[in-house]
Amino acid sequence: MAPRTLRSAEDLHAAGLIPAAALAAAGRVGARYSIAVTPAVAGLIDRADPADPIARQYVPDAAELVTAPHESADPTADAPFTPLPGVVHRYPDRALLKPLLACPVYCRFCFRREAVGPDGGVLGEAELEAALGWFARTPAVREAILTGGDPLMLSARRLGEILRRLAAIPHIELLRIHSRVPVAAPGLVTAAMAAALDLGKPLYLCVHANHAREFSAEAQAALRRLHGAGVVLLGQSVLLRGVNDSEAALEDLFRAMLRARVKPYYLHQLDAAPGTARFAVPVAEGRALLRGLRRRVTGLAWPTYVQETPGGGGKVPLGPVFEA
Ligand SMILES: *Cc1c(COP(=O)(O)O)cnc(C)c1O
Ligand code: SF4
Repeated sequence: MAPRTLRSAEDLHAAGLIPAAALAAAGRVGARYSIAVTPAVAGLIDRADPADPIARQYVPDAAELVTAPHESADPTADAPFTPLPGVVHRYPDRALLKPLLACPVYCRFCFRREAVGPDGGVLGEAELEAALGWFARTPAVREAILTGGDPLMLSARRLGEILRRLAAIPHIELLRIHSRVPVAAPGLVTAAMAAALDLGKPLYLCVHANHAREFSAEAQAALRRLHGAGVVLLGQSVLLRGVNDSEAALEDLFRAMLRARVKPYYLHQLDAAPGTARFAVPVAEGRALLRGLRRRVTGLAWPTYVQETPGGGGKVPLGPVFEA
């Protein structure tokens, strides 16, 4: 039988990813926030390492049940910028379309953790038509950014149809997809999926990855297929305690991206979603890490370090600032 995605505390225990002593707490976390670990991701985890940086991103922890005072269910404040279901319009020239809320894996630090999950969350036919209509009649918007959830969880046919409808709007110049699928479920990037992304307009795909080991041979092959379809590949990462909070880990991550034809775009400061405090790295430490990396690695490996302003002000670069 083909291995399947682990979706509960019991599944994780049976796979050797959590000890019996942690089962009850993980079950309580799972009742509140979705769990999913794909076979591809489970295969990357070193079960002998209690601090494994892949496991840390996906295996639930009792600490998630504690919401710190500064944490918020909507840390990026999308709600006030939602003109209609599935659309977020914060900046004049670009807007998000969220066709579904399912992801291949559920990251324990996710900023949309109160919204994402496998149940429901797919825009109905009428809602999708309304959202596409909004893009068509909003000429200031030049870029449609598909996110969610993860758009590559849609069938190639369905995703292709949405992309073609958007690309047909004269004022839409660029399409963008944010996805974890190429690293977390590379098998979903089929030839049919790559073909569906080969459009008459530029498509940028921003792949979310936080550790060099996520660029497995399968992930690299998936990214190669996308690149072959003319997709421009960017990388986005979150600075995470215990995952990539050292110069060496960041260097390895950005070099792994470049080897996979992925240009590091953003390194995100962690958003204060509920129960994510164990991943927080202070901004001063993030700046020092990047400062240390600057001379050490090619300029191509350098992402912009950004933070969402609480209250919906949008992303701002955090530096570091250098004296010339
Ligand atoms: C992050 C985000 C974007 C994309 O921002 P870029 O800086 O262009 O990558 C667009 N709209 C919303 C609402 C966002 O949160
Ligand atoms: S893939 Fe993105 S949206 Fe999905 S759980 Fe991870 S961080 Fe959240």
